[in-house]
Amino acid sequence: MKEKLQSIKEQALSKIAEAQDINLLNDIKVSILGKKGELTQVLKSMKDVAPEDRPKVGQMVNETRANIEAKLEEKMKSINSAMRAEKMKRETIDVTLPGVKKIDGHRHPNQIALEDLERVFIGMGYEIVSGPEIEYDKYNFELLNIPANHPAKDEQDTFYITKDILLRTQTSPVQARIMEQGKLPIRILSPGRVFRSDEVDATHSPSFHQVEGLVVDKGITMADLKGTLDQFAKEFFGEKTKTKFRPHHFPFTEPSAEVDITCFKCGGKGCRVCKGSGWIEILGCGMVHPHVLEMCGIDPEEYSGFAFGIGLERITLLKYEIDDMRLLYENDTRFLNQF
Ligand SMILES: [Zn+2]
Repeated sequence: MKEKLQSIKEQALSKIAEAQDINLLNDIKVSILGKKGELTQVLKSMKDVAPEDRPKVGQMVNETRANIEAKLEEKMKSINSAMRAEKMKRETIDVTLPGVKKIDGHRHPNQIALEDLERVFIGMGYEIVSGPEIEYDKYNFELLNIPANHPAKDEQDTFYITKDILLRTQTSPVQARIMEQGKLPIRILSPGRVFRSDEVDATHSPSFHQVEGLVVDKGITMADLKGTLDQFAKEFFGEKTKTKFRPHHFPFTEPSAEVDITCFKCGGKGCRVCKGSGWIEILGCGMVHPHVLEMCGIDPEEYSGFAFGIGLERITLLKYEIDDMRLLYENDTRFLNQF
């Protein structure tokens, strides 16, 4: 019995000494001191010991048990404190290290140009409104006097979602949506994203931005349109800028025109920016077609109006003399930081 106890003790102490983690120590504890543990088995066999020897054997078992428990406790404490020390070491903060500096972003050139443009028109009493990017064929084409056989409706040019729903190809559908509401007079500016089935190159992208303008009131004439856009050109491109209206055709305006401005770079003498002509095309415009007014529930005998559409990227590229539209979408901070 004595040898057995001695052997249990020695084996236990050596296992405890070797153990390097808490779980292992717990396993050792259970295997020796637990209900079915080796030492507990010895206690159970006390009935086989002669009655006169029982007190002595009992004392030996208790001493062995106390000895093992003390060693276990000691080892657990030492592992716990080693773990704590390790954790403290890991979580130490070196307060002398320099901090992580956050770099402030800034507005994209497109956004800067848009805000400049909005400021000009807000100053003239325009309201900024927006419309859906996913649009009904009815608003994108039909109500804008664009017939079913118009080339713009071709699947080559437009992203269709269903037969009647598409990604808007222009911001002009906002015109119809606003006119339909019937609140007159109207003086709105509507910037937003538009989509065309175009390959990406230096001047094309399948997604770009337009800014739509619409005025409807009693007695609006072509003179109001010319005065407004002339004022815009002067405020946006510089006081000396002159405008020129060239006849053009859009289905939803009549008459229609394209507007050129004198080159802000050379003042009209001719340079690289204006390709030597002294003029730069900036937008399309016209008097709202009476049929468009009618379709949107406005009496063309009583009201008239004008509309214009500006390509945001176009004027951004011009204003900042950027020669490739792709640069605006690549989001390379080395490029964007220049503005
Ligand atoms: Zn020029």
